[in-house]
Formats: sequence, C-alpha cells, structure tokens
Amino acid sequence: MVENEGRVALVTGGNRGIGAACAAALAASGDRVAVASRGGEAPAGMFGVRLDVTSADSVDKAFAEIEAELGPVEILVSNAGMVRDTLLPMMSEEAFQDVVDTNLLGAYRVAKRASRSMIRKRSGRLIFVSSVVGLSGGPGQSNYAASKAGLVGFARSLARELGGRGITSNVIAPGPIRTDMTDALTDAQREYLVSATPAKRMGEPAEVAAAVVFLASPAAAYINGAVLPVDGGAGMGH
Ligand code: NDP
Repeated sequence: MVENEGRVALVTGGNRGIGAACAAALAASGDRVAVASRGGEAPAGMFGVRLDVTSADSVDKAFAEIEAELGPVEILVSNAGMVRDTLLPMMSEEAFQDVVDTNLLGAYRVAKRASRSMIRKRSGRLIFVSSVVGLSGGPGQSNYAASKAGLVGFARSLARELGGRGITSNVIAPGPIRTDMTDALTDAQREYLVSATPAKRMGEPAEVAAAVVFLASPAAAYINGAVLPVDGGAGMGH
C-alpha cells in the first residue's frame, strides 16, 4: 500500500460512488479526509462538510470549516459531477449551463480555493475526475463531454502555473464505473458501454480510487499535467 503521511485530503462528491471510494482509499493509506457533498454526511471516521460546488460562498465556507477542523487541504480530489444527457436538438441552454457549472466551474471554484494554501506551503496535489467521454465524445453527452474535456485544459494550465511550487495537477479519466450515475442508464445503454470496453465489464469505484491514491502519493511527485485513464481500455490511453 502507498503511504500518504497523514496529509489533509478533500474529496468533493465524496459521499457516494467514485468519490466515496476515493475517500475510503485515501483514509486507508493514512490521510485525514474531509468528505464534501450537498448533504454534508460522511462515513464514520471522516469529516463531513456541506459543500455545493456551484456556489463560491459555499466552497469558501466549507474550506474554512475544514481548515479549522483538520488544517489546510493538501490533496484535492475534484470529483463532484452530474449528467443531463440529451441529443443536441433537445439540449437546452440551461442543461448545458448546469452541467458546465457543476463539472467545470465547480472544479475551478474548489481548485482556486485549495491552491491558496498549497501555494503558501509550496506543495499540493490537484486531482480532477474527468471521463473517457471528455476525450472520445458521447452521443447525447455534448454538455458533459465539453465540461470533462475542459478539465484537461484547466488541469494542464494549472500544472504549468503551479508546477514550480511543488504542486501537481492531474486528471483521471474513468470509463464506465458501477455507481448511481450508471445505475440510472438502461440495460441496453450499459451493454453498449461494456461491449465498447476491451475489459468487457464495468469498472469498480475502488479501481478509480487506486489511481487517485497513486497520484496523491509522494511517488507521483514527477507526474504533472497527465491524463490517467481508468477505463478498461475504452479510450486506448487516448
Ligand atoms: P454519482 O452520481 O454516484 O455521484 C455524484 C457525486 O457528485 C455525488 O457525491 C454528488 O453529491 C456530487 N455532486 C453533484 N453535484 C454537486 C454539487 N453541485 N455540489 C457538490 N457535490 C455535487 O457519480 P459517480 O460517482 O459515478 O461520479 C463521480 C465523478 O466521476 C463525476 O464527476 C462523474 O462525472 C465522473 N465519472 C463517472 C463515471 C461513471 O461511469 N460512473 C465515468 C467517468 C467519470 P450529492 O450527494 O450532494 O448529490
């Protein structure tokens, strides 16, 4: 197991799905984990905080609470995300904006706030949960794919801005993973995703979490601006 020296980690959307697996894996590797969600609930042993990534005020308040309880955030896992899938002719401006506001602007809000103390400390880990769809596209997912592709340019810009201060900024690009998000798909949609994946199965949240723990670890200090696929081969490494 990779040991992470008890650093303070924040996982947005850490109450369920991929985020919950990331929180559990970071805690198991020795980090002190704050779990953020709109409800504020957290598994036993973790610090739960209410945070809505669509509000800069909510982000600021949550960081202040985490700083008071655990100290400044040293590892950010920007994982909160949503879908509002539909084909372009039916895609309302509101559906496009909502998804970009949560998935891309949400990441900007938390990363900006987290970077303050990281810059002062001259160390930190920024990890953004994107998607295979951000790089390959997906029918009915133009809003989602645009938001997830945006994370790549965002993370790489931060890698260039902050790399000299001991801060890395990387992207994880999961393929289809078994969570509430994919439980909402039809059987036919899930079968299509599995058939398009060389591994011929859905991934598990813990498989994404293992990659997050690695990128957060001291062993990954020289990995910056990378997109790490965890997708059973669906994107062929992009
Ligand atoms: P879930 O739908 O299971 O969980 C989504 C999480 O995001 C929840 O914790 C939710 O919290 C949180 N969230 C949504 N909107 C907000 C908001 N405005 N403010 C704060 N938190 C919010 O999804 P997954 O676990 O499947 O997805 C996690 C991430 O992984 C997402 O970014 C998703 O796009 C990405 N991903 C998922 C894949 C998959 O196949 N499952 C594949 C590729 C990428 P709340 O309880 O408050 O709603």
